Amino acid sequence: MFKFLPRWSVAVAILASGIGVSAFFMSDRIESARAAAETADPGESNPLLATWAGPYGGVPPFDKVKVSDFRPALEKAMDENLAEIDRISADTAPATFENTIAALERTGRTLDRVSTIYGIWSSNMSSPEFRAVEGEMDPKLAAFNDRITQNEALFKRIEVVYNDPEKRKLTSEQQRLTWRYYTNFVRAGAKLSPEAKTRVSEVNQQLAKLYTRFSQNLLADENDRFLELKTDADLAGLPQSLRDSAGSEAKERKIPGVGAIANTRSSIEPFLTYSSRRDLREKAFQMFVNRGDNGDAHDNNAIITEVLQLRAERAKLLGYPTHAHWRLENAMAKTPERAMELMLAVWKPAVARVREEVADMQTLADQERAGIRIEPWDYRYYAEKVRKAKYDLDQNEVKPYLQLEKLREGMFWVAGELFNFKFTPVTDVPVYQPDVRVWEVTDKTSGKHVGMWYFDPYARSGKRSGAWMNAYRNQEKLDGEVTTIVSNNANFVKGKHGEPLLISWDDAVTLFHEFGHALHGLSSNVTYPTLSGTNVPRDYVEFPSQLLEHWVETPEVLQKFAVNYETGKPIPQELVAKIQKASKFNQGFATVEYLASALVDMKLHLAGSAKIDPDAFERKTLAEIGMPHEIVMRHRTPQFGHVFSSDGYSAGYYSYLWSDVLNADAFEAFTEAGGPYDKAVAARLRKYIFTVGNTVDPADAYREFRGRDPRVEALMRKRGFATGETAEEGRKSAKPIK
Ligand SMILES: [Zn+2]
Repeated sequence: MFKFLPRWSVAVAILASGIGVSAFFMSDRIESARAAAETADPGESNPLLATWAGPYGGVPPFDKVKVSDFRPALEKAMDENLAEIDRISADTAPATFENTIAALERTGRTLDRVSTIYGIWSSNMSSPEFRAVEGEMDPKLAAFNDRITQNEALFKRIEVVYNDPEKRKLTSEQQRLTWRYYTNFVRAGAKLSPEAKTRVSEVNQQLAKLYTRFSQNLLADENDRFLELKTDADLAGLPQSLRDSAGSEAKERKIPGVGAIANTRSSIEPFLTYSSRRDLREKAFQMFVNRGDNGDAHDNNAIITEVLQLRAERAKLLGYPTHAHWRLENAMAKTPERAMELMLAVWKPAVARVREEVADMQTLADQERAGIRIEPWDYRYYAEKVRKAKYDLDQNEVKPYLQLEKLREGMFWVAGELFNFKFTPVTDVPVYQPDVRVWEVTDKTSGKHVGMWYFDPYARSGKRSGAWMNAYRNQEKLDGEVTTIVSNNANFVKGKHGEPLLISWDDAVTLFHEFGHALHGLSSNVTYPTLSGTNVPRDYVEFPSQLLEHWVETPEVLQKFAVNYETGKPIPQELVAKIQKASKFNQGFATVEYLASALVDMKLHLAGSAKIDPDAFERKTLAEIGMPHEIVMRHRTPQFGHVFSSDGYSAGYYSYLWSDVLNADAFEAFTEAGGPYDKAVAARLRKYIFTVGNTVDPADAYREFRGRDPRVEALMRKRGFATGETAEEGRKSAKPIK
C-alpha cells in the first residue's frame, strides 16, 4: 500500500496524551558515522528487504538488523515501490478500482516493512550511527512521497475512478478508499502546475531538514543542561526515590555534589512538586521552559519562523487560506473554526477553575507564613500540598498497590471482558532488545489467532521519552487474512533485580491508554490496509485510547490487580475513594497548560504568511486569551516538538481535547447502561468504533455507537468544570484575569 506520510509519524501520532514528543536525535558524531554508513554493503542479502518469516504469519526479523543495512534497504525499497507505481500508471487498460486503487494497496510492501523497522530503531534504539542515517534518509523519504503524489499519469487514473458513475456499485469501504486516495493526492498538490509542484516538493524537503534541526536542538538543551544539587540542603523536600535518581544522574554525568536534575519533563516535574527550595525550583523551572529559547547555537526561534513561512506558502500553493485549513480538512473537526470553538468553550471554565486552585494554594502559603505570591515555579509544589490537605491523598501511599506486571495482567483481563481477547506469552519470536516481551492474542472463545502484542516498558539510552503504541503490521484481508502486530512502549525505570516495579497512578492510567491504542489496532476487521486499525484522523485516534483509561479505576480491576506488593492485599476502598475524589483536582491547571499550547498552535497556523517572531507572538496571544500568570504553556513554542519536529500535530494539538469530548461522552454510554462491563454497550463499541478503522466517517461511526452526536457536557463533568449557565455566572464573578 502507499503511505502518505513516512512511517515514523504513526508512532508519534499515538503518544500518551499530553506527554511531549521529546526529540530523540543527537547532533554529535554524525559526520564520522555517516562515513561508516557509506561503506555498507548494498548487496542482495540485506535481511531488512526479506518478507517477514517465522510463526504467526511472519514477525519482524529483529535479530538480523544492522544499522548499516537501513540506507541500502530503504533505497532499494523506494526504487521497487516507484517501479510498482510506474506499472500502474503506465497501464493502457481503462482505469478501474481494481487496476488502480486496489493495485496501489498492493504496492510498497517492502518499503512498509523496512520503514517500520527503521521507525522502531528511531524511537527505541537510536545511536549516533543510526542518527546519521536518519539525517540523510528523512529528506529523501519526503522527496519520495512527493514523487508519488505528483505522478500525473497516476493521479489521472485515480481521478477517473473517483469520478466514475460506476463508483456507487463499489462497496462502501471501496468508495471511501477511493475518496481517500483522491483527496490525499489533491491535498498533496496533484492538481498543481509543474512549477508549483516543484516548489511544493522543495518546501517539503526544506521542512524535513528544519524538523530534524528543531529536534536536535531540543535534545541538546535537554541533554546538555541540568540542575546541579551541591549539598544536602539542596535536596530539601525530596522523597528518597527522587534523591536516589538525582544521585545516579550526578554519577552518570560525573559531577561532584549530591545530585543532578536532568532537563527533561520526567525529572523536572517531580522536582518542582517536592523541592522545598524555592530558589532551586525557580532555577529548574527557568531552565526547563527556556529549552530551545536561549539565544545560542541551539535556539529554535529562527527555525520556527522559517517553518511557519514555508507552511503558509505551501498551503497557499495548494489552494487553502492557511496551513490550519489544509491540516483540518480531512480531520473530524473539518475546520479550524470548529476546533477553536471547542477550545474556547472549555477555556473559560478552566480558567475560572484555576482562580479557585490558586486561591487554595495562596491560602495555604499564607498559613505557612511563606510571604510569597504563587508563581509558576510554585504551582506544582503547592498543588501537591493542597492535594494532601484537601484530599488526604499521598501518591507515595498509592504506589505499593500499583505493580507494573499486575496492572498488565489487569489490562489483559479487561481486554478479555470487553473484546473477548486472550493473551499468551511467547518466546519463539525475535526481539530488538532482551527486555522486550511478546504475547500472542487469540479469541477467548474460538481460539482463533488475532495478532501479536510486544511490550517494551523500560527506559534506556537511545529510547525516546514518554509512552506510545506502534503498529508493526496492520490487519487487512486484501489477499487473504493478515493479522495485526502492535507494540506498547514506555519509560519505566527498571526496579532492583527481583523486586516488583511500582508505578504511579498517572503511569497506570497511561499504561491503559496505550493499551487502548493497541486494542484499537488488534480489533481491526477491514479489507484494505490503508483504512486499517489506528489509521484514522488525528483528532479521532486518541478517542479509543482515552476511553480505555476509565477501566483502570473500575472496582473489578482494583480488587484483583491493584494489590500490595508485600501483603498481596487489594488497595483499600477508602484509598480508592480518595483517588476518585482527587481525580478532578488540579484539572484547571492541567486544562489551561494544555489549552494554552493548543490555542497558540492553532493561532500560529492561522496567521498566514506574516513573518512571525515566536516569542512575541506567544506573549501577545497569551495576553489576548487571558492566560493566568501562574501557569506556563505545557509546551512553549521553541520546544513544541508535537508541532515543529514534523507536520504531525501542527494545527492539531487540539486533537487531544477533541478526542476527550468523545471519550467522556462515550463512557457515559456505559454508566447510563449496566456499567463499565455492560455487554451490549461493549458490543456496540467493538462494532462501530474499534473494528471499523477508517472505513467509516468518524462522525457517522460515533453516531451509530451513541445514537446521537457527541456532547461536550460529559467532558465538563469529568473535569469538574461548571457547564452552561453556571460557567457564565462563575466567569462574571471571578476576579479580572491578568
Ligand atoms: Zn494516545
